[in-house]
Amino acid sequence: MAKVTGARFEVLRLVRPELLEMAGYEPVEPTDLLAERLGIPPEQVVKLDGNESPYGPSPKAVQALAGFGRYHIYPDPGQRKVRRALAGYLGVGEEQIVAGAGSDELIDLLLRAVISPGDGVINCTPTFGMYAFSTAVCGGRVIEVPRREDFSLDLPGIKSAAGQAKVIFVASPNNPSGNLMSRRELDALLGSDLLVVVDEAYGEFAGESAAPLVPQRGNLVVLRTFSKWAGLAGLRAGYGVLPAPLAAFLMRIKPPYNLNVAAQAALLASLEDRGRLMEGVQAVVEERERLAGMLEALEFIEVLPSRANFLLCRLQGLDAREVRERLARRGIFVRHFDMPRLRDCLRITVGLPSQSESLVGALREIGAELGR
Ligand SMILES: *Cc1c(COP(=O)(O)O)cnc(C)c1O
Repeated sequence: MAKVTGARFEVLRLVRPELLEMAGYEPVEPTDLLAERLGIPPEQVVKLDGNESPYGPSPKAVQALAGFGRYHIYPDPGQRKVRRALAGYLGVGEEQIVAGAGSDELIDLLLRAVISPGDGVINCTPTFGMYAFSTAVCGGRVIEVPRREDFSLDLPGIKSAAGQAKVIFVASPNNPSGNLMSRRELDALLGSDLLVVVDEAYGEFAGESAAPLVPQRGNLVVLRTFSKWAGLAGLRAGYGVLPAPLAAFLMRIKPPYNLNVAAQAALLASLEDRGRLMEGVQAVVEERERLAGMLEALEFIEVLPSRANFLLCRLQGLDAREVRERLARRGIFVRHFDMPRLRDCLRITVGLPSQSESLVGALREIGAELGR
């Protein structure tokens, strides 16, 4: 007879003890919830906290989703169409591509493939939170090598940590600082024995990519996504460009249906309509420079140069968290990070020109309210 386990069974005793204390990932809140809390319609929310596209998906992608007739059939576990299309987009072989439910899934898959308990992963902080998060979930050990004052990499620091690590993650452009990794930095990393993962979530905005180097290098992985430039954040479509043997291995261990049919259809249509999507990217890049100028004109804000679709702004003589809260009360949402080098900073996604106007107007008012 089965053992009876009542409601008092302490189910968390079964959870991996090393994970019990782990803090969850801190995501941004959904627009509907923000709007409801403020009592305004969701369209009125100025959402500049998630680095999403202000233009949304390609109309061709929306059409492909509406006209897709096979939602009742499982997707192709081999992702053949998608891998072929992505290979053509980047000029690499399709055997080097693996797609997933956002590049977040690729981060997790990579770490599940290479990390045994206790293995080291170098994280160049401040940076995107998922590298440390997934390392912890996979039982790895995060080795933090903070970036330098200008957010470039601390190459000597990385070199001395490399002996205890298997993998290094570098976002380029980096989130939240917006700066690119230089070719000199990349070459130095590729000369090590580490698996070098370059996260190009904002690659289309920067117009530069390390992907063409993957076929010539044994230890380079490039991650990319349709979340930011192609407006598909909600559908979850990302991919990696990897050395062919590692790509084949990830294809073996991934959940078979990780890229769902809707994400596949939208991804393919987006690639076909990339001319139009890149016009949106160009508009965001131009708006980024215009917004930077408007923010710089407020004398209490210093704007860091950015190659992505957001700006990191340092506030002078104002409490950044207080400013974030006052913006939120006006329906304008930006990101604040409660961590050492970012406490006086806000990360602001570049949105529509009208959203820039609302933001800067509100900042001017808040500056005055707080005596600046
Ligand atoms: C937004 C972001 C991602 C997440 O991409 P998804 O494809 O939506 O999972 C990955 N890396 C960085 C640096 C990001 O900022």
